[in-house]
Amino acid sequence: MQTHLLGFSRMGKLRELKRALETYWKGEIGAEELIATGQELRARHWKLQRGAGIELLPVGDFSCYDHMLDMTAALGAVPARYGAPDGGVDLDAYFQMARGGQGVPAMEMSKWFDTNYHYIVPELAPDQRFSVNVNKLLTEIEEAKQLGGPIKAVLPGPITFCTMSKSTDPGFDRFELLSAIVEAYEELLGQIGGQCDWIQLDEPVLAQELPDEVKGAFNNAYDALLKAASPAKAMLATYFGSIAHNLDELEDLPLHALHVDLVRAPGQLDAVLESLPKQTKLSLGVVNGRNIWKVDADKALEQIRQAVNTLGSDRIMLAPSCSLLHVPVDLEDEPELPTDIKRWMAFGVQKCQEVGKLAAAATGQDVATWLDENRAAWDSRRSDPALHRQDVRERIGSLSPTMYARPLPYAERRPAQRERLGLPLLPTTTIGSFPQTTDIRAARRDYKRGDLSEETYLQRMRDCIRGVVNRQEELGLDVLVHGEPERNDMVEYFGEQLDGFCFTNNGWVQSYGSRCVKPPVIYGDVARSKPMTVTWSEFAQSLTDKPMKGMLTGPVTILCWSFVRDDQPRSETCRQIALAIRDEVADLEQVGLGIIQVDEPALREGAPLRVSDWDEYFRWAVDCFRLAANVAAPETQIHTHMCYCDFNDIIEHIAAMDADVISLEASRSRMELLEAFRLFEYPNEVGPGIYDIHSPRVPSVDEMANLLRRAVAVLPVDRLWANPDCGLKTRGWEETTASLRNMVEAARIMRQEL
Ligand code: GLN
Ligand code: ZN
Repeated sequence: MQTHLLGFSRMGKLRELKRALETYWKGEIGAEELIATGQELRARHWKLQRGAGIELLPVGDFSCYDHMLDMTAALGAVPARYGAPDGGVDLDAYFQMARGGQGVPAMEMSKWFDTNYHYIVPELAPDQRFSVNVNKLLTEIEEAKQLGGPIKAVLPGPITFCTMSKSTDPGFDRFELLSAIVEAYEELLGQIGGQCDWIQLDEPVLAQELPDEVKGAFNNAYDALLKAASPAKAMLATYFGSIAHNLDELEDLPLHALHVDLVRAPGQLDAVLESLPKQTKLSLGVVNGRNIWKVDADKALEQIRQAVNTLGSDRIMLAPSCSLLHVPVDLEDEPELPTDIKRWMAFGVQKCQEVGKLAAAATGQDVATWLDENRAAWDSRRSDPALHRQDVRERIGSLSPTMYARPLPYAERRPAQRERLGLPLLPTTTIGSFPQTTDIRAARRDYKRGDLSEETYLQRMRDCIRGVVNRQEELGLDVLVHGEPERNDMVEYFGEQLDGFCFTNNGWVQSYGSRCVKPPVIYGDVARSKPMTVTWSEFAQSLTDKPMKGMLTGPVTILCWSFVRDDQPRSETCRQIALAIRDEVADLEQVGLGIIQVDEPALREGAPLRVSDWDEYFRWAVDCFRLAANVAAPETQIHTHMCYCDFNDIIEHIAAMDADVISLEASRSRMELLEAFRLFEYPNEVGPGIYDIHSPRVPSVDEMANLLRRAVAVLPVDRLWANPDCGLKTRGWEETTASLRNMVEAARIMRQEL
């Protein structure tokens, strides 16, 4: 029973890669040093993996930025604007594609399926050329070979590559290029097939519904690829969902192995076992690669046993469910986690060990000590009172349908809010955060360390809020915010104050490029023991006669951006968070806030891979938002905010949230996404972003007035707001002030025009 990995973290446990990348970008180290850091990390990680019991090592999963970008480079599919000769990519061209530079914009970035990892979206043009370059792969294969033992090259598969790409020309169907892409892959596999034992091609798109043309292409493509890869054996890897609905496409393929995710989709095992071709091995993904909990060994062994009974143990391989890119490296580096909670957890290295131990257990070796320890950890977790709080359970049990809805429909809330708030046409506002200066960060850090007294800290934050409020009044904004200086992160800030959450010291996970996030861990029942934002918002409101917007993070976003407990459905945990936020909404209302924003930027991202599973997801996700926000009285205005997302296929769910106002990222799409709202005849108010906050550029009055004109052409003007795309915390004061001044002026001009 061979053990393997689909991939591993690239950053290193101390984020060594991040540091090397950022100093290289600043010009403080040379390319050699960056390359050496990569080499060292790969060697270290392979040794860790082998030491932990992984036989077949992954190669090619390492990347200096992103594995999809590496694939684009390996295929030589470099967009013309990067001017790389013959499609070849050196380090600088590679980073230009990733980050832009010298007047050339970066390639687009998008979320990798339902994760918070962002990949660089390949661009395919009608006259696309490919020019294969396997230097990176061959170098890494050479390095891995020095360790001895079998190795497996890991690549995104061609169907996934093509599906996750975008066409440069909207009229062009990029799937017309599929056969050319497959040919390029054949050439590539031909060049590495003699150098490694296995080649793994990742096709997570198999967990989605595929268009017929794409489905039909699978068989031929993989027939050719299997031949090209020989003598290396080929594994097709799937994850993040069930592939039961696409098994027909694989039935006649003489694959050497198929990997399935039995954590996310245990139910697919029967169907997979039944349809697996005779010569194909089955790789069981039984250890969760997306979360930080210990495997439930008994449950996993049961799945393994079922597969062994049908196939025999030599046709079984064992692995985590997906790449370990999505979990931190090593639990040993967490000295401060409470020991009873730490005992329930496993990070990357520990997950490798679990795979090794499970394989040993399944092949009759004596791992009794490990099994006992695993069972004891689970027993202690199951019986921990923090996971089953009577008060929380009772409250959930007593929820009534009226708690999910506002007391009056929007049409009747609207006049009440207008009267209370007295806002002009096209009211101007911002999304919440203002520039987080070094002073602010230092004050928070020093306070946390104990180097700053509470009194001084509070004073500094209040000064900061006063400054933000004054600035907004000077600029003439209509609805003000306090600026969020007290928040390190929109999820962590709330998690730190809620029961049921804990935090790691080094639990970093790559988000994109050198950027990492440290998701909070939700281990127990969630409850709010005291107000979390009220004193800040109340103070801010006291400084102005203009309406102040209270600012909260929504339950779905808190859920999606945390490591969530796996002993109950996500929907259940989300409902608990929703109740905590609900209490905060009620308290903000109590102290007189007339507008409360509940941000849900992760709502769309949390949707499962199969569209047929969406209704179920959105039903509970939207319910949780409603439970959190809809405690508000009719004359209190509820806002929500979402970052860039395609609203076309989810607009009915957005409408069901029933927020009075939703602000969106819209400037880069030039208001195109408002079309979904128009077609749906979306009844409530919308604030399409009219300037891009991802760039320091100051948009002109004209530019923003034009965007507003476009918006007014699509939606009724008395339903529209003027605001930036998102929060301003990554911006500097200078460009923020100039941009907001222009924004307010653009709204004023528009009001006159109308
Ligand atoms: N209120 C948050 C802010 O302004 C929203 C951030 C987000 O949408 N990601 O920073
Ligand atoms: Zn946003």
